[in-house]
Amino acid sequence: MRPVLKPVLKPALARTWRDTETLQFGAVHRHARVVERADTAVCSFLSLLDGTRERPALLAAGERLGLGRDPTGDLLDDLEKGGLLDDAAATWEALECYPQPRRELLGPDLASLSLVRPEPGAGPAALRGRAAARVEVRGAGRVGSAVAAALAAGGVGIVTVVDTGRVTPGDCSPAGLAPTEVGRLRATAARESVQRAAGFAPGGSRTAAAGRSAPPPTLVVLAPRSGSGAFAGGAYGARPLMRAGVPHLYTGVVEHLGVVGPLVLPGTSACGGCLAFARTEEDPAWPRLLPQLAEDGPGPARTPACDGALATAVAGLAALHVLLHLDGTGPPSVDGWCELSAADGMARRLRLRPHPDCGCQWQPGAPA
Ligand SMILES: [Zn+2]
Repeated sequence: MRPVLKPVLKPALARTWRDTETLQFGAVHRHARVVERADTAVCSFLSLLDGTRERPALLAAGERLGLGRDPTGDLLDDLEKGGLLDDAAATWEALECYPQPRRELLGPDLASLSLVRPEPGAGPAALRGRAAARVEVRGAGRVGSAVAAALAAGGVGIVTVVDTGRVTPGDCSPAGLAPTEVGRLRATAARESVQRAAGFAPGGSRTAAAGRSAPPPTLVVLAPRSGSGAFAGGAYGARPLMRAGVPHLYTGVVEHLGVVGPLVLPGTSACGGCLAFARTEEDPAWPRLLPQLAEDGPGPARTPACDGALATAVAGLAALHVLLHLDGTGPPSVDGWCELSAADGMARRLRLRPHPDCGCQWQPGAPA
């Protein structure tokens, strides 16, 4: 991590007085930090940590306030070690990756990153990573379109949505496609939804169209409208992604169950095939059932179940897991998956081990 250029007290942290001399930063008790003996001089000094001054100017200011040069340096070091400082220069560099109005829209997201990544400049560095990323979402139903919008709103540089056909009422969701889009081309409506989420008027050119010349995506979200993304290893075969070494996340709602995961890091973590093997051990008929489920099977036409609130929660969780991955943190959908139930509102995480018969732990590019 580079040295802090322009220290700023993290604006995301609430400031409260525990007593007349103890200043607490942060509302969540187990993460909160305190500055003791915070007298008038110390408070005056803290007010100078607004990101407009470099360390030498701050040391001189501490001297003028009567704190002494060395104690001022120690105070700065303590604030940094306590995770209370960010680097305003790094923050500005990260926001410069985005045109207005995205900078202002991303303010709370960056404030959140500054808390989960305590080192100065680490939150802004994560945001720069998001800005450089390209995520492809396959499927623009209730879950997929909302995942795409949430990723665009979260600062992912390019979000593309791949789908065909026209918007049906069942595709609409409060975080994705609006009911006014029914009948329009699904890919167009999803692209415009992404643009709106990123703060642009629909029709702008800030989101790239999926095309042959586009670079390979940083990550692919498999969210087919049928919900079969909840059955990893199903209709949306991920073999090309495995071969190309592209990380991918399965997600969807099937019947009353919302699923996020597995997030597959090819060659490193358990894949959709591993999950298919694991399910087959539980139910030997699974390989026969799986393709029928994906293609809508025999019998009368179904009305696919998809609780709107569940789909919105699943999309938000899927987007959060993608962002965690882009930020460099392994989300719980790696080597596992998360289930949300419309029956009881509970969320649970299930573990998935790489299956020895799957062969996905071979290096990418090896013959399957
Ligand atoms: Zn596997």
